[in-house]
Amino acid sequence: MLQIQENVSLKNFNTFGIDTSARYFVEIAHETELTELFADPQWQQTERLILGGGSNMLMVDDFDGLVVRMNIRGIEHRISHDDVYVEAGGGEVWNDLVNYCVAHEYAGVENLSLIPGSVGASPIQNIGAYGVELKDVFHSCRAFEIATGTFRNFSKEDCKFGYRESIFKAELKEQYIIVSVKFHLSLVASINTRYGAIEQELQNRGISNPTIKDVSQVVAHIRVSKLPDPSTIGNAGSFFKNPVISAEEFAVVQAKFPDVVNYPAADGGVKLAAGWLIEQCGWKGKTVGHTGTWKNQALVLVNHGGATGQEVYNFSSQIIDSVYTKFGVTLQREVNIIS
Ligand SMILES: Cc1cc2nc3c(=O)[nH]c(=O)nc-3n(C[C@H](O)[C@H](O)[C@H](O)COP(=O)(O)OP(=O)(O)OC[C@H]3O[C@@H](n4cnc5c(N)ncnc54)[C@H](O)[C@@H]3O)c2cc1C
Repeated sequence: MLQIQENVSLKNFNTFGIDTSARYFVEIAHETELTELFADPQWQQTERLILGGGSNMLMVDDFDGLVVRMNIRGIEHRISHDDVYVEAGGGEVWNDLVNYCVAHEYAGVENLSLIPGSVGASPIQNIGAYGVELKDVFHSCRAFEIATGTFRNFSKEDCKFGYRESIFKAELKEQYIIVSVKFHLSLVASINTRYGAIEQELQNRGISNPTIKDVSQVVAHIRVSKLPDPSTIGNAGSFFKNPVISAEEFAVVQAKFPDVVNYPAADGGVKLAAGWLIEQCGWKGKTVGHTGTWKNQALVLVNHGGATGQEVYNFSSQIIDSVYTKFGVTLQREVNIIS
């Protein structure tokens, strides 16, 4: 039996720890409950927010609609020769899935260790870290279409994955609820240690032939040393995307700032490090009111305690303005703004 609660505080449901509330709140543990919920015209017509771990959201205002918290659990796998297909419920904790795969020696997700949030949200922004993106291991997902009350499978091509993008953030925004995700992993490890400080940390540990468990542990170690733990200091990870600009635009920036941190991007574009741009504007470690940027990573905005969503949002606008004024580059927010 579905339990719709009223006037529920969302403070413990978003990693920023912003104290807003939801007019209505329901938790979904089985996909049949979605069918039941949206068969009722009242909920079809009410504004909705699909919530996983709340680790990629900034709640600016109270939500005057229905929050649907996904809690569908379960992890299953099937092995075919060297291929492993792992399917997980949308409400599974992402890092529990990673730990399951690492423990079974199913290779592919180890570089994505310790990313907060749920399995169901992972395709929404095509999560990525340390040289691997979700799309590299994604097979398909099953999703519920709210308007029709039907389920549909999405292949990798259907999802139109891009850098922190998918069809679920674009033309199908807020139309589908992901109930499970299937991953294509391998029994044969293809270790990727090229990105960030992984190789250095492996060397520090005297590991020359790393296993996927080694990579997972090293990635987790680096992340803990760099990023604030949301359970002690509210944040949603990288607040902005790394901007991708054309080669011509890059030439202009580089002429003025020869040491600008950059990486090649798709279609001849150039990706700039948003954290570096923000740092150059003097924001790293700055506190403004109850908010600020993290001392070790300017790309991460934090709630020092008692910040409102509006305060964090206004602060992020100040950063966007100053990066634009200095570099002529417009930062886009990666975090979903809920208002
Ligand atoms: C400390 C920290 C570090 C982070 N590091 C990274 C990183 O390295 N790489 C990275 O990519 N991200 C990172 N993030 C961001 C975040 O972890 C990911 O975006 C994650 O996938 C969000 O999952 P969630 O369940 O918390 O989603 P939520 O914040 O609950 O939701 C995010 C969006 O997805 C929608 N959504 C959620 N679940 C579903 C569903 N089942 N069906 C349909 N829509 C849904 C929501 O409506 C919302 O629009 C980090 C966050 C933190 C706090």
